[in-house]
Amino acid sequence: MEKILGTFVSEGIAIGKIQILPEPIVVEKEIISDKEAEVKRYEAATKEAIALTDELINKATDDSAKEILEIHKMMLEDLDYTETVINGINEQSYNASYAVKEAGRILSQMFFHMEDEYMRARSADVLDISDMLIKVLAGQGKVDYKTPSIFVGKDIMPSQLVELDPKIILGFAFSEGSVNSHSGIVARNMSIPMVCQLNKSLVNYDGLIGIVDGKAGVFIVDPDSETLALYEKKQKEYLDFQKMLVELKGKSDETVDGHHLKIKANIGKPEDVDKVLQNDAAGVGLFRSEFLFLESEDYPTEEEQFNAYKEVATRLSGKDVVIRTLDIGADKTIPYFDLPKEKNPALGYRAVRICLDRVDLFKTQLRAILRASAYGNISIMVPMIISVEEVKEVKRIINEVMSELDQKNIKYNRDIKLGIMIETPASVIISDLLAQEVDFFSVGTNDLTQYTLAVDRENQKVKFDKHHLAILRMLKIIVDNAHKYGTRVCICGELGADLDLTEYYLAIGLDEVSVSPPAVLKVRNKVRGLNYSDIIKNYKPL
Ligand code: PEP
Ligand code: MG
Repeated sequence: MEKILGTFVSEGIAIGKIQILPEPIVVEKEIISDKEAEVKRYEAATKEAIALTDELINKATDDSAKEILEIHKMMLEDLDYTETVINGINEQSYNASYAVKEAGRILSQMFFHMEDEYMRARSADVLDISDMLIKVLAGQGKVDYKTPSIFVGKDIMPSQLVELDPKIILGFAFSEGSVNSHSGIVARNMSIPMVCQLNKSLVNYDGLIGIVDGKAGVFIVDPDSETLALYEKKQKEYLDFQKMLVELKGKSDETVDGHHLKIKANIGKPEDVDKVLQNDAAGVGLFRSEFLFLESEDYPTEEEQFNAYKEVATRLSGKDVVIRTLDIGADKTIPYFDLPKEKNPALGYRAVRICLDRVDLFKTQLRAILRASAYGNISIMVPMIISVEEVKEVKRIINEVMSELDQKNIKYNRDIKLGIMIETPASVIISDLLAQEVDFFSVGTNDLTQYTLAVDRENQKVKFDKHHLAILRMLKIIVDNAHKYGTRVCICGELGADLDLTEYYLAIGLDEVSVSPPAVLKVRNKVRGLNYSDIIKNYKPL
C-alpha cells in the first residue's frame, strides 16, 4: 500500500481500478525531409487502425455500431482519403499526424456540404478515423476507455476530459494539475473526486486498486484491507451527507431571519442542465459557452449554438440563464482557432479581445444568443473586460446584430440584460464607471485572484491565496460601486462556493453566487443556518 499526499481539487471518495491516461496529443505542423519514412509511418498506422477496428467489429454486440465500424474500416482503406494524406506528406512536407489532421478537416468539410443526408453524416466519421490514426501515430491506439476507473496521469486537458464518458470516470489523480484549472472546475461540476499535485510519476500503478479522497487531497494505491474498509465507510458517510442535502430541495435560499442570497449554478454544456435542476439552483449564473467550441472539431454554426442556448433556456423555464460569450485562450486552446503561440497567453489574445477582433465570430454567437432569448430568460455576459470602451463596442455590435434580426423579422428579447465579468483589477478600479453601462456584474474570482496577486492560477509553485485581503476588499469595492447604480453583483468564480466566506458575502451585500451544481445545496445549507442581523451587527470592515 502507498499513500500519496497531494492537493484537493474536487471532493468525494472514489474507490476502483486505476487506469493510466496518456498525455494529451497536440498535433503540431512540422516540415519533414524524409517523406518516404513519413509515408511508411502513415501506412503502418493505417494497418494498425484497421486491425483495431476489426477487433471492435468482432466485439460489437449492437448491429448499428457494427455498421458504423464497417464504414470506418472502408474509410481507412479509401483511396481518396489515403491520397489526400500522402499528398500532404509528399507535396507540403507535412509530418504524418498533421497530414492526417488536414485530410480529416478537408474531407469532413466536403462531406458536410453534400446534398445527400447519408453522405453528410459521413463528415463525423472522417474526423473519427483521423482521430484514431493520430492516436495510433502517437502510440496510443490501444487505449480502451470502457471500464469504470480512476483515471491517473500527469494532468488532463479540458478537451481530453470532455471526450471521456462520464459514466466510466470514478475519480482522477494527477501528478501535476491545479485546483483552479478548467479541468478541475469541470470535475467539480460533475462531482468527480479529484486530487492533483501528487508530485510523482504514477505510470506504474496501472491496473491496481486506488482510492481518491478528494477533500483530503490524498491518493492511496493498493490499499490493505483495513484501509479499504475505512474508506468504504467514509464513502458511505459522504453519500449520506449528500442525501441529507437533497432534503433541502425546494427550500428557499434564506437565512433564519429571511435575508436572501440567490444561488445559481455554473454550466459548460446543455446536458449540465440535468444537474442544475437536480440540485434545485435558482438558474444558470454562468454558461461557459466556450465548452461548446471545445467539444467541436470546427466552429459550431449559428444553428448549433442557437439550439444549445435555446435548450438551456427552455429547460430552465423562465429562470435566469446567463450566457458568457466566448472565453477562449490561455489554458482553453482550440486547434481550429489557430491561435498564435504566445509567451504569456493569460495576458494575451483571449476572450473579448478575440471577439472584438474577429467580429464575424462574435456576431454569429450574439445572433444565436439573441434568437434563443425569445425562448427563456437569457442574459449576455462578456468576460475579461478592462475598459468602458470595450463595453461600448460590445453594445454597438449587439445593437447592430439586433437591427439585422429586426430587418429579417426574427424574434428576440429586445430588453435582454447585459452583464460583464469583473475579473481584472482594472475593472474593479473602474467598477463605478462600468456599473453605469451594464445591468449586472459577475465576479470571476479565479482570474481576479490570478491577475491581482500576479500568480498563475495553474502554477503549483506559487501560492494562490484565495482569501488574500486584496481580493476580499475588492469584493466590497465592487458591490458598493455596483449598488450605487442599481447594478446587481454575483460571484461566479470558485470562491462563491467557499463556505468560510458566506457570512462575509452577506455582510457586504452580495446579491448572488453562482457555483458548480453539486455545491448549490451545500451553500443553501450554510445560508439557512445563518442569522443575517447577527452578521450585520458583528461586521467589521476588512
Ligand atoms: C473566473 O475567472 O473566476 C471565472 C468564473 O471564469 P473562468 O474560470 O472560466 O476563467
Ligand atoms: Mg475567468
